[in-house]
Amino acid sequence: MAEATSRPTPPEVDRVAASRAAIAARRARAAIKAAVTAWERSALSVLDAATAEPAGVEGRLRVTELLLSMPAIGTTKMRDALEILGISPAKRLGGLGKHQRRRLRDYLAEREAAHHGRRKTRLVVLAGPTAVGKGTVSTYIREHYPDVLLSVSATTRAPRPGEVDGVNYYFVSDEEFDRMIAEGQLLEWATVHNAHRYGTPRRPIEEALSHGRSVLLEIDLQGARSVREAMPEARLIFLLPPTWDELVRRLIGRGTEDSAEQQRRLATAKVELAAQDEFDYRVINSNVADAAREVVDLMQIRTAPKRP
Ligand code: 5GP
Repeated sequence: MAEATSRPTPPEVDRVAASRAAIAARRARAAIKAAVTAWERSALSVLDAATAEPAGVEGRLRVTELLLSMPAIGTTKMRDALEILGISPAKRLGGLGKHQRRRLRDYLAEREAAHHGRRKTRLVVLAGPTAVGKGTVSTYIREHYPDVLLSVSATTRAPRPGEVDGVNYYFVSDEEFDRMIAEGQLLEWATVHNAHRYGTPRRPIEEALSHGRSVLLEIDLQGARSVREAMPEARLIFLLPPTWDELVRRLIGRGTEDSAEQQRRLATAKVELAAQDEFDYRVINSNVADAAREVVDLMQIRTAPKRP
């Protein structure tokens, strides 16, 4: 009793500040859990943040809280997991030992992979270096897999022979393109090969997605990055040539660019090839039908291709 009365009481201001800080920390933890539940943030990224900063918000989160915030993990599954992982229910993410952390990481990675495998990804971006055959593969998909909506971009470049306005591109003037940007009509846009502007119209994509259709965007690397930022659920596929020499051969062989333009595009291609690790999947375009099939498989379209 005597001990209790002699313990110093913190001044009122300190107590108020401490309780405010505690409320803020609780809110921050709740926001993390809500993001994990909604698949807006991966549990793995929470664990990584906790490892980087054990005293930070993520580090203060209990392992039990993280597991329970994951969809499809209830109390029983959470307890079983802790037992298998050898982690006590009182542990916070920032206080895990090296081996516990590794085991938890493997467990979370496995669950997330299983989830991504099951999820129907509706928006797929196909990018890759110039002349790799993105256009040919996407045309093949448009013709053989009618369930997929192939987004038609707007561009300020002139049509090539055989290209049809509204099918290959919407060919627009610079003023028209400016207007589309100003009115927020484009999901993303970029100046490609330092020459013309290309952009993805937002409306048709949003409509198709809202009707449960799969959408394929065939755009450049900058565009792929912008889409990932705007729609993190998008799946990014990088189309590769079988070899560099084959890429050069295809670019020169198609004869649609003069030699200065070819050199410019090959320089861009080198930079683009170096970015392939940013992508979720890589598909080698040795054969158009096979590459198209692979892309469509990654979209998880279950329908069989239309017969030619
Ligand atoms: P091309 O002039 O050969 O048709 O296309 C040149 C490049 O522009 C290709 O790499 C193509 O993927 C890219 N591209 C086409 N449409 C879009 C678009 O809407 N946005 C972006 N960022 N790039 C695009």
